[in-house]
Amino acid sequence: MIEVDLHLHTTYSDGTLTPKNLVSLCASKGLKVIAVSDHDSTEGIKEANQAAEEFPGMKVIPAIELSTDIPGSEVHILGYFVDYLESGFQSMLSEFREGREDRAKGMVRRLDELGIVLSWERVEELADGGSIGRPHIAKAMVEAGYVKYPRDAFDRYIGRNGPAYVGRIKLEPRQAVQILLQNGALPVIAHPTYVSSKSGPDNISELRPVLAELKESGLVGMEVYYGDYSPSQVSDLANLANEFNLIACGGSDYHASGNPDEPEPGTVGPPIESYEALLDLKGEDI
Ligand code: AMP
Ligand code: ZN
Ligand code: FE
Ligand code: FE
Repeated sequence: MIEVDLHLHTTYSDGTLTPKNLVSLCASKGLKVIAVSDHDSTEGIKEANQAAEEFPGMKVIPAIELSTDIPGSEVHILGYFVDYLESGFQSMLSEFREGREDRAKGMVRRLDELGIVLSWERVEELADGGSIGRPHIAKAMVEAGYVKYPRDAFDRYIGRNGPAYVGRIKLEPRQAVQILLQNGALPVIAHPTYVSSKSGPDNISELRPVLAELKESGLVGMEVYYGDYSPSQVSDLANLANEFNLIACGGSDYHASGNPDEPEPGTVGPPIESYEALLDLKGEDI
């Protein structure tokens, strides 16, 4: 029985469920602890907290997901128990969101040069005032009939090595860890096999130096029970988390994205002990 999902998105970034609908869905799947972890935004947390009041026993962890780059790949860092009222933190998030807007405009321009004509107004409308991201562009491409599913847009055009990809504001993983620690949040590395395009035991060797550096910077956990990771990936990552003394976290990373076979809340997540370990740490540090 899955009771914990520490990675979920809402309409305040590139998810398509409102916080209220997301919380209801999670409650209906039997989840007891969820983290609302939008990209560069904490705007959905209040609404999620309010919605959770209708489900006694349901806890919402205020969270965030920050994107960073390493040569040839990207690393996402989740922050748990984020102090979303802190103004310095919020102005940093605003800056990141503005950077996303410029970047999205750049990708729409590149697509245009490739003959994929999208209306910027429509992309903005799909983002609906939230933190804009590539999934909004992908959705506009689906609507306009250029691709069947959002993920096809990534595979062919806006994935990291795609012809319409535009990079983001430069941020290193360890800087994201520092930003979160300064805020009082607990930094956890998301979907670590993203570090390499290949999954499986091979890329674990590439992960080690990243984990060593981030652990030194104050990383407290890594995602192990994630999305559609296979049982062997999960067991390799669990060993690695153990080796680096990192809390084994995870979740569905649900976006209600419209892609086939998207892992749903309630199908994947860490044991309740991982949540308790995060709570313990939060108690000690703050
Ligand atoms: P961005 O924040 O604009 O860089 O977009 C990253 C987001 O795009 C991720 O959080 C996922 O929601 C989504 N994404 C990344 N890669 C893919 C893919 N191959 N197929 C579908 N969605 C993806
Ligand atoms: Zn996303
Ligand atoms: Fe991510
Ligand atoms: Fe995510």
